Amino acid sequence: MSGHVWRRDGALRGRAGHAVVLLALVAALLVGPAPAHADDPAPGSTDPAQVLTATGGQRVKGTARLGRTLRVRTGRWSMPLDSLTVRWLRDGEPIVPARKAGKRRYQPTWRDVGHRLSVRITAVSGIQTVSVDTASTTKVKHLHDVRRTIRYEVRSRGNVTADLATFEKLAQQTYDDPRGWRAAGIRFVRVESGGSMTLWLAAASELPRFSAQCSSQWSCRVGRNVVVNQDRWQGASSSWNAAGGSLRDYRHLVVNHETGHFLGLGHSGCPHPGAPAPVMMQQSKGLSGCRFNPWPTAAEIAKVSP
Ligand SMILES: [Zn+2]
Repeated sequence: MSGHVWRRDGALRGRAGHAVVLLALVAALLVGPAPAHADDPAPGSTDPAQVLTATGGQRVKGTARLGRTLRVRTGRWSMPLDSLTVRWLRDGEPIVPARKAGKRRYQPTWRDVGHRLSVRITAVSGIQTVSVDTASTTKVKHLHDVRRTIRYEVRSRGNVTADLATFEKLAQQTYDDPRGWRAAGIRFVRVESGGSMTLWLAAASELPRFSAQCSSQWSCRVGRNVVVNQDRWQGASSSWNAAGGSLRDYRHLVVNHETGHFLGLGHSGCPHPGAPAPVMMQQSKGLSGCRFNPWPTAAEIAKVSP
């Protein structure tokens, strides 16, 4: 075999190295320990200079925030490496999908907000494989820090049979979600009474009592009143259900849409076929080629950013 092939084919060299060490181990077992010499390591022992270790510089660089990009520095190692792979971790657990989490650069997603990220770096040299985890980042932040706080109360009107505690809980989850209006730096804090906004769960027949503009068929917003129609809360809409949308997502949609009106937004259309529908599109009435989407788009977030 020519030297040319040995230099070119790292995999071949790796397998050959493995075999040599195995032979040395077998020899050591058969003949017992060799006499010690000050300069020679005993057969079968590992020369400290040939132990693969991370020798520093393994860390995550960048700001842990939605919309930013983090990078991993793979640092220095005690020996030349045959391969090196990375895997991004969330609170110490591998992030799925692995494809995105296997790259040196990583853009935090909404799922990462509030959690700490780190990277498992796995280095291979010959038969040795060593993994080290970097230090964790700070908790990943929302797209924007809080720049405006809206205090709101929750009330019901008419014959409400839906569970109001569930309504309160899901509404607050919608407001706290990194994909929602919170991305614009707007925080919603529920108060027992008062505040600047009232979130209603109302029986369908009560809707026209809020305003002549409100229909018993849909939800509505009138002044400080963000009114969710109980029929829609309990059953979504026929077009939403026909498209296979979940009730949970419809509930996010209706809270985001009517609250979007409170924040000053009007209705918008489909930007182009195949795009996620703006949350301010009247998605229950037709999509114009857009896809159902319960969360504000980046353009809508930008519109209400203080
Ligand atoms: Zn509307």
